[in-house]
Amino acid sequence: MKWNRKSLRHTMWMYFILFSALILLLLWFLQIVFLQNFYEQMKVSGIDAVSDTIIETYGTDKFESTIDQMTFSNALLIFVTDKEGHMTYFSDEHGYGGRARGLRPDQQAKTTTELPSAVRPLPNEFESFMEKVNQSEHGVVNYTVKQHRFKGETLVYGRKFEGGYLYISTPLEPMDSTTAILKKQLMVVTVVSLFAGFVIAFFIAGKLSRPLSKITESAKQLAQGNYNVSFAKDGYTELDQLADTLNYTTEELSKVEGLRRELIANISHDLRTPLTMIKAYSEMIRDLSGDNKEKRDTHLGVIIDETDRLTTLVNDILDLSAIQSLHDEGGNLPICPVNFSQTVEMIIHRFDGFSRKDGYTIQTEIAPDLHIAANRARIEQVVYNLIGNALDYAGDNKKIEVRVGDKDGRVRFEVTDSGSGIQEEEIPYIWQRYYRAENHKRSVVGNGLGLSIVKNILEMHGAPFGVTSALGCGSTFWFEIQRA
Ligand code: ADP
Repeated sequence: MKWNRKSLRHTMWMYFILFSALILLLLWFLQIVFLQNFYEQMKVSGIDAVSDTIIETYGTDKFESTIDQMTFSNALLIFVTDKEGHMTYFSDEHGYGGRARGLRPDQQAKTTTELPSAVRPLPNEFESFMEKVNQSEHGVVNYTVKQHRFKGETLVYGRKFEGGYLYISTPLEPMDSTTAILKKQLMVVTVVSLFAGFVIAFFIAGKLSRPLSKITESAKQLAQGNYNVSFAKDGYTELDQLADTLNYTTEELSKVEGLRRELIANISHDLRTPLTMIKAYSEMIRDLSGDNKEKRDTHLGVIIDETDRLTTLVNDILDLSAIQSLHDEGGNLPICPVNFSQTVEMIIHRFDGFSRKDGYTIQTEIAPDLHIAANRARIEQVVYNLIGNALDYAGDNKKIEVRVGDKDGRVRFEVTDSGSGIQEEEIPYIWQRYYRAENHKRSVVGNGLGLSIVKNILEMHGAPFGVTSALGCGSTFWFEIQRA
């Protein structure tokens, strides 16, 4: 496998190693550099807790036994003095304590019980200790004292309390040997964890990048037009989501591809039929009806009709693509005030000849002088397409109704026919281009573009629109548009 520096595998591996290194560095610092400090702080806080425990028992008969217990279990040396600095009690690391009566008068304290067999004298620096305690803000001090004789240090902790002074001292262990051991251990830990990090990172990165490579493989196949490809899931949520999205994309792309094929088939069919007719009738005129005016006129009529059909189809395709590109680019149609009532009347008038000739009736209920804010040419196209459809699908009674009226500050247009209607489940699709409902397929001359044009234009006007239809009872197409 090629080692690519920008690959997920490499990057993950790098981060993993960096992370391990950072943790180890932190450990090194804490263990080796700050160990002494850390140790002292731990000691101080331990002794602080001890002093709390002792002072809590002050004034009770447990005071002295608590001190003995504490010195023994924490290896401490403790002196208690009164406020003048006269020792009243001491105890060493063996818990061997005693009261200080029987000392010289200047060393003596006012205690009540028997003399101990041996009394440990107060440390030499006790006076300076008391000074430090008195000068401290809260009456608590801690400091280290070098013990030259033993090449070591002791920690001295002092505290003032209501009975006098509490002096606690304990030797500080030299950290050098501990540090040396820790260093050796850390060395091993460093090598092992870096090695483990290396191996684990390598495997995790491999585990993660494998499904991604699989997805890339499938995506390549998709790009080559294989819509049957499926993106496998691997159990990682994010990658599964990616696979789901890509599977969905594949499905949609395959639908689009289906639509594209259908579209080409539809257009070819729609273009071929009139062209075949035109060719056939032209040949008939050339070979048969050229001299017979009546027949020739009929045949020419067919040719003219078919040419019109071709023109309508080509215009519709061009219109739709122009409107759709404008719509997709977020462009706006030029909007002006339009006398909508007049516009609708005028369009109905255009249909008059055709409707009267074929026995169609168009009933109207149009409120006068309703003005709307719209693009005149496009809104005419909408009305034209909707009335045209109503006539095309009017059914046997050949009657349609057109209504224009005011509705809540908008102008509402409705056209109703009593034709065969549209199945409920097909209603959402009729607005798509080239969609033609099952029960109408190719029975009426149409190209499946009219409603798609209507939809695009009304959406660009921000006008709500819709249809109510019941199979066998007819349909009402409507839209509402802003008044001017
Ligand atoms: P077409 O040129 O086929 O009429 P349209 O886009 O105008 O294309 O309409 C799409 C489909 O919607 C039609 O094929 C038809 O099935 C259905 N349709 C449109 N208007 C009506 C209507 N008034 N009554 C019943 N069905 C309709």
